[in-house]
Parts: sequence; structure tokens; C-alpha cells
Amino acid sequence: MEQQKKKKIPERQCLGCNEHKPKKELLRVVRSPEATDGTGGVVSLDFTGKKNGRGAYICRDVKCLKKARKSRRLDTSLGCEIPEAVYDAMEAELAACAGKNDKTV
Ligand SMILES: [Zn+2]
Repeated sequence: MEQQKKKKIPERQCLGCNEHKPKKELLRVVRSPEATDGTGGVVSLDFTGKKNGRGAYICRDVKCLKKARKSRRLDTSLGCEIPEAVYDAMEAELAACAGKNDKTV
């Protein structure tokens, strides 16, 4: 389906450092769609870039996640209040994967 034509590399802005970077270099943070029964609306890191829901982007760097956390820009961008525990979990997850390699996906 996808043609290898010359196309613009999609860029996104990191909510931590405000830098624009190619989408694939950034990490997607996604809020799952809310279901009618009140479930959903869960915020998590999306390493595959394929999860459904509203997304925001940060660098694959704990520093940027922390900045975005402090400024509450992730909350604003995703349109919900992200619980502290979720931030803690995301920081731990990112820190764990950050040291491993630079080419996930
Ligand atoms: Zn950043």
C-alpha cells in the first residue's frame, strides 16, 4: 500500500523540551478512548505507535517526561488529569527501556 515516494517526514513536538523531531524518534503517550461503562481513559506509553486513542509526544528521555509532568502539558494535551502513579509508572518504564537501545519499533 505505502509507496516509497519522497514524502515529508512527519514531525511532532516534544511536550518536554518543545523541540520538533521526526515522529519516529519520539515516544507516543496515549490515552485510551473512554468506554461508555466508564472504563478507558487510561494513559500509557505507546512504544508501538499503534494504540488507539488520543496521543501526545515526548522524547524517549525521562528528562522530557519529567518536564512535561511538571508543566502538566501532557495532561492538557491529552485532556485529562494524569494520576501521579501513572506518571511514576511511565517514568520507570521509560527509564528501563532508555538504557537498552535506541532502535525500538
Ligand atoms: Zn524532548
